[in-house]
Amino acid sequence: MLDIRFIQENRERLKLTANQKGLPDSIDELLEVDEQRRRQLADVERLRQERNRLSEQVSAQMRAGAREEAERTKTEAKRVGTMLADLEPQLEVLESRCKELMLYVPNVVSPDTPVGASDADNVELKRVGTPPVFDFEPLDHVAIGESLGLIDMQRGVKAAGSRNYYLLGAGLHLHRAVQQLAVDLLVRKGFTVMDVPMLVREDTLTSAGFFPGGREQTFELPADDKWLVGTSEASLVAYYAGEIVDMSQPIRLAAVSNCFRREIGSAGRDVRGLYRVHQFAKVEQVVLCQGDAEQSEQMLQEITRNAEELLALLELPYRVVAVCTGDMSQKNYKQYDIETWMPSRGSYGETHSSSNLHDFQARRAGIRYRDEDGKLRYCHTLNNTAVASPRILIPLLENHQREDGTVYIPPALRPYMYGMDAIGPGL
Ligand code: AMP
Repeated sequence: MLDIRFIQENRERLKLTANQKGLPDSIDELLEVDEQRRRQLADVERLRQERNRLSEQVSAQMRAGAREEAERTKTEAKRVGTMLADLEPQLEVLESRCKELMLYVPNVVSPDTPVGASDADNVELKRVGTPPVFDFEPLDHVAIGESLGLIDMQRGVKAAGSRNYYLLGAGLHLHRAVQQLAVDLLVRKGFTVMDVPMLVREDTLTSAGFFPGGREQTFELPADDKWLVGTSEASLVAYYAGEIVDMSQPIRLAAVSNCFRREIGSAGRDVRGLYRVHQFAKVEQVVLCQGDAEQSEQMLQEITRNAEELLALLELPYRVVAVCTGDMSQKNYKQYDIETWMPSRGSYGETHSSSNLHDFQARRAGIRYRDEDGKLRYCHTLNNTAVASPRILIPLLENHQREDGTVYIPPALRPYMYGMDAIGPGL
């Protein structure tokens, strides 16, 4: 959410941003309704003052024994009361419409964000590592997983419908190993790791900036008035919602959670395998820092580096792209995606998303701190995936497959894989 004054002063810029992000433009309507609200509020406040003045006058007239005047003033006060009874509900309607429209205003984007319509317009910043060249016919992750007994897609669909899966034996070990490796890496870097609610109230998703735009992507449990999180970012941000936090140091939080996504609108896309599923696990980084553009830019670089470090430990080739306006969500100010090489796709596929939101999310969630002058200010918030699995199993299994059908396990994962240096049949 942005400050209404900022919206007034940046009307054209925000209309352009909404257009560039492919979002509905509610800015003109918002400013019009806000103008009506201000006028109505001024009228209501003037009438309230008038009513108070009249009621004091009635008391004074009664004390002075001027009964007739007091009756006249009472009639006048009643007339003002009737006008207020009429205007106050109208003001409430305008206020709630304003609040609603505010929720649709996009965050501005950084000056270095590329302008574009879709992920095809993202700009590659760097490539690290070299995609493998196989001197045998490589398999895709589903074929590898099924031949080694790691993944069962068919029974996943039998039990839970499309985009569901089972992980078995070493497949599950690998899934948990990447998560624990990510947790240990973040703990070493000073993150506080948390177990967080995955079933949350609507308010939590609104204040983290996922609602109202992302409602249709979210699984709802109407009987309990709860929603299943699509990412623990929402739960992590909610932890400090409405609080004044100590910002002498950035707050680094991480969570391991399941994530649930309806994936509406992706029918027919990424239907094979583990790329786009309804339920997955993610280790997520969330950082709160001072409302200072330089500091939050540094934190964006830091959380991006953390993910790159993890990919280096997994010995996977990847690239970093600057995400363009059309591929960016409403709440982001600046975003990098990390895409890891996926041989079966013959391309890099998104595995991490690193975002700086400036104070957009903190305003919604009401997370503030006192600056050096004791003034209350909103924090900047950031987030990035540390690892998301099973999607990361795609590059792991596919890049590390060997001609004999086994899969190489990088040394960093072995302590979490019961010492295994490879996955083979029956291992
Ligand atoms: P996001 O929170 O949308 O930025 O996604 C973060 C990461 O979660 C992505 O880069 C993927 O690695 C993973 N991810 C997102 N959606 C899915 C999905 N439907 N299935 C599997 N992994 C996903």
